[in-house]
Amino acid sequence: MRQYVIIALYFFLICVNFTMKIVRDRMLGMVVASSFEEAVSLIKDRLDIVDTVSQYVVLKKSGANYWGICPFHDDKHPSMSVSPSKGIYKCFSCGAGGDALNFLVKIQNREYKEVILELAEKFGIELPKKFAPSDKTKSQKEQMLKACQKAAEYYNMQLKTAPDSNKAMTYLKSREITDEIISKYTLGWAPNKYDALYNELKKDFKDDILEKAGLILKSNKGGWIDRFRNRIIIPIQSENGDYIAFGARAVDEGQNPKYLNSADSFVYNKSKTLFGLYTAKDAIKECDSVVIMEGYFDVITAQVNGVKNAVASCGTALTADHVKILSRYTKSRKIYLSFDTDSAGVNATKRGSEVIKETLSTLGAVKQFDESHISTSSDNKYACEIRVVSPPQGKDPDEYIRSMGGKAFNEYIKSAPLLIDFLLNNVLAERNNAKTPQEKSELVLKVIDILSDVNNKIIQTEYVKMVSSILDVNENAILKELKTRENIHQLGNSPKVQKKSVTNSSQFEIKAQKNLLSVFLVPDSPLTFTQINEMMAGVTFDDEILINVKSTIDKLTQTVNNVKELIEHLYTEFVDNPDAQAILPELIALSEVYKDLEETDFKNVIKETIAKINRCKHEKEAKQIKSLYEGVNDDDPKALEIQMQLRDKLKKLRQSEKI
Ligand SMILES: [Zn+2]
Repeated sequence: MRQYVIIALYFFLICVNFTMKIVRDRMLGMVVASSFEEAVSLIKDRLDIVDTVSQYVVLKKSGANYWGICPFHDDKHPSMSVSPSKGIYKCFSCGAGGDALNFLVKIQNREYKEVILELAEKFGIELPKKFAPSDKTKSQKEQMLKACQKAAEYYNMQLKTAPDSNKAMTYLKSREITDEIISKYTLGWAPNKYDALYNELKKDFKDDILEKAGLILKSNKGGWIDRFRNRIIIPIQSENGDYIAFGARAVDEGQNPKYLNSADSFVYNKSKTLFGLYTAKDAIKECDSVVIMEGYFDVITAQVNGVKNAVASCGTALTADHVKILSRYTKSRKIYLSFDTDSAGVNATKRGSEVIKETLSTLGAVKQFDESHISTSSDNKYACEIRVVSPPQGKDPDEYIRSMGGKAFNEYIKSAPLLIDFLLNNVLAERNNAKTPQEKSELVLKVIDILSDVNNKIIQTEYVKMVSSILDVNENAILKELKTRENIHQLGNSPKVQKKSVTNSSQFEIKAQKNLLSVFLVPDSPLTFTQINEMMAGVTFDDEILINVKSTIDKLTQTVNNVKELIEHLYTEFVDNPDAQAILPELIALSEVYKDLEETDFKNVIKETIAKINRCKHEKEAKQIKSLYEGVNDDDPKALEIQMQLRDKLKKLRQSEKI
């Protein structure tokens, strides 16, 4: 009997323990997965495809889907589609595709299991014991991040305690960096010793981890030495706040280089990292603008003084990746370039603005860059505005903020000159040195370089007026020179394409024609290319670009085997024709609506679209004839002829309406 009681009690305790565990897990928000497969499916449920992809790619909504530049091949125009309803992404150019999990594994270039373990932790999913990561097997990446974190803490402590940290404190005080700022940015000091950090970290980390994290180097004698010595340490955080690298500033006279930075590593890519972004990203979203500065201390000074949307590139010039990252945070893409006012700063501004313009223009349909556009309404998501901040009296931004305060700076930048004004002012400043006609003409050519980038003719003409009066040069001479430049430009860009405006054909009709063309791009279509072509016989397209796309489709459908191939070939066919290429994503998006239709329905939809196009045409012709008819006298012999034509047209129009 006693035995049974003990056994019953034993089971009771097990049950209590089990229930307690479930209760605890519930309270912690943990979900327990019974198998690895279950964990994977729980993770998949929690991953949103649009959120996941847009962490790496700028996405633009078009129809039911989103489109962006594919990160898996050298994409020039957005050829990757993301379908929120299906939870998948698909590149129509290189064929990459899959769900959100697949995207993460591919883009992070990591082991599948490693990503699962990380996501399980993020979503509070408890894995069966045998899959839970032990400290030993914790990923290399995780250990490198931990090592960087420990290093940042160690350097920070050294700034307060190391006997040789006085000179660092003196320097920081000279830049008005307070103790509070030091702890906020975890600023630190690398003592003038060969193995201070190494001795501290080797207890917890393997040598190869410390080396890969860029903290130690092999010495000539074969041992390990610290990478940073006798320097002020500025830790660099990732977008998510992890410590990933360090900038290190010299303090001694003649100590070179002035800044030493971590090399790129598995966790740090300087061309994709912006200093201060982690602390600035909310402010960038909020102000819908970003201030790009030159150095670490500029950003720190700016942020602590209320210019919270300031960032800097880390010891490298601004790259296309930096711009892409920033364009994810600012809808209106308002960018303030706030570099030093010396000639190096001016050059950095010119280079930086070129990178910004180029990057934003290669985002193709995602974003059309127009420098002359000043965003006045938040509805215009495709606007972009670059202003150059060069504070008065030749002060550097950092000096200006320290002497005038962040509030004054924030006010100042609102009215800072547009990039174009800044560039023009720079050229016009040389006018006193240009005395001979030859020198003057050189100056005018520089002005034309700048003005030929302005698309808006009214704005361009206004600038020409202004410049001609300042330089005392004939206005028409400048305009003529600009015209020549633009003609050369157009010829160079697209020799064959003659842009034809769509105004002579109604927008409605063009839309219907696009719809019809998109039928060719429906995946798993119930009709063959030949069948579609037969149905479309007799339809004429009005827009130059659409005519081109249709004839190219006709040519390609002779040789390609399926829709995927057709789309790929279209992209390559139009490689020199950006106008035609830019329309492809729209057609692909439109084709979505015809997906998964039965053959009969599919045919009916095509017929309906064709009828719509014909109706538009007849209407247009009827209108033309009507106006012609109104223009002739009744006794004119032509009147009868025109009247007959009009009657025919109206008859046709009524017929097509019946379909
Ligand atoms: Zn691709």
